[in-house]
Amino acid sequence: MTLRNSLVWFRRDLRVDDHAALHHALLSSHRVFGVFVFDTDILAGLPADDRRIQFLLDSVRELDARLRDMGGYLIVRHGRAAQVIPELAAGLDAESVFANRDYEPQAHARDHAVQDALRAAGRSLQTFKDQVMFEQDEVLTLAGGPYSVFTPYKNAWLKRLAREPEALRPFETAPHAAALAPPPADHVLPTLADLGFVPGATPIAHPGAAGAARLLAQFERRLARYDHDRDYPALEATSHLSVHLRFGTLSVRRLVAMLQARIADGSGGAGAPVWLSELIWREFYMMILARHPRVVTHAFKQAFDAVAWDDGPAADALFAAWCAGRTGYPLVDAAMLQLERTGFMHNRLRMVTASFLTKDLGIDWRRGERWFALKLNDYELASNNGGWQWAASTGCDAQPWFRIFNPVTQSRRFDPDGEFIRRYLPQLAGLTGAAIHAPWLARPEALEKAGVVLEQDYPLPVVDHEQARARTLARFKAIRDA
Ligand code: FAD
Repeated sequence: MTLRNSLVWFRRDLRVDDHAALHHALLSSHRVFGVFVFDTDILAGLPADDRRIQFLLDSVRELDARLRDMGGYLIVRHGRAAQVIPELAAGLDAESVFANRDYEPQAHARDHAVQDALRAAGRSLQTFKDQVMFEQDEVLTLAGGPYSVFTPYKNAWLKRLAREPEALRPFETAPHAAALAPPPADHVLPTLADLGFVPGATPIAHPGAAGAARLLAQFERRLARYDHDRDYPALEATSHLSVHLRFGTLSVRRLVAMLQARIADGSGGAGAPVWLSELIWREFYMMILARHPRVVTHAFKQAFDAVAWDDGPAADALFAAWCAGRTGYPLVDAAMLQLERTGFMHNRLRMVTASFLTKDLGIDWRRGERWFALKLNDYELASNNGGWQWAASTGCDAQPWFRIFNPVTQSRRFDPDGEFIRRYLPQLAGLTGAAIHAPWLARPEALEKAGVVLEQDYPLPVVDHEQARARTLARFKAIRDA
């Protein structure tokens, strides 16, 4: 039966290309409207110059333009989505609302509330898989349970894809665009000021689906070297697509199809399978979050909820130094400044800084997780939580607790010439050789020659790594022996 009117509710899927909910709505309805809601439940509490809102608005504007190219338009609302959607569906007389599934616990609760309100009015909410290749219950162990170790999950994920190549088939929208409802004469979109935000000093480059396509085209040229180059933050080696995967400005199916083709014809080199693994990590953590929502506030490995993290004024001061990039460890500080100034942080540096906060400063991973959530352009609950619990050794398939990154060794290995450090800490630029990784160990003549006065131009280390390491081992041993 064909529906009269339907409403596509765009959320983390800001594109028209290969879009499951839009595809299904167009195929099953006479008239299709689209809406995006700037949800005040999510926006409340964000800083006025939050870069992500400008990115979202730019991406929403582009989505509206693409829909208009196809004969439709995008309704944009500002309010509580749980209220706006049922009201709008009633106003448009939409029998059904179509949306792509979101797996975060809060989104799940919101969607349930919307579904209940729609049902009460005789309407329905239809949801579709779109954000991932495989959902939480599609890649399971032989016993039918969820995996908690990445490699067997990845192998099962790859097997399922080999068995089910149709999972890559794109959800076409353009051929069915005739069903899109045309824009009204007074169609306008809100400005950033209408939403209560102001432009940030450094906006996120390349918003929207066009931005994603540009970044992908650039990355495709680097793909074959990804396996090697991805660990060096000074290199332009990774894709920078995380913010686009977060907001759905490109389709994960298209990425996996591209990788498969480049693995098959050999042009993806050793990089393509490694990059595919990263996309599978993303789904692994989404599956973990969906299957174990308690990880939002608790350790995945429950025993580690008992870890006695430091708190009080001394820990607060160390936390503030970490946030501000003033720990005295140049690689850690340069990374934290990259986050503050750009909203991005390289993956290797996320591991180093998260390890430093938890294992060198002894501070609860949840505090660091919240800081990243506030600052990261690509903030995504599942990956952020997974990454933090990995570094803190409390997570599934995590770094073992007795393996503790040495921030100086990491610096020597992954930023050997100090190129990344110099970018964010120009006051250390004159230091040469090993000194840039540990200025407090530099000879006084070397510091003088480089024009660096410690404590004035750059802080001394806030903790001694070896002592901190011993404290962390004791902290975790206490749990093991309890
Ligand atoms: P690429 O190297 O090009 O990777 C391609 C894509 O694969 C990424 O865009 C991302 O979607 C996915 N990916 C890569 N690495 C991981 C990983 N380790 N776990 C899950 N997915 C991955 N990623 C987020 O998207 N949002 C977060 O909030 C987030 N927080 C993190 C916190 C910590 C403490 C750690 C250690 C990692 C976190 N990551 C997070 C994972 C990873 O650091 C970023 O996805 C990556 O740095 C983004 O850069 P890119 O797009 O250039 O990645």
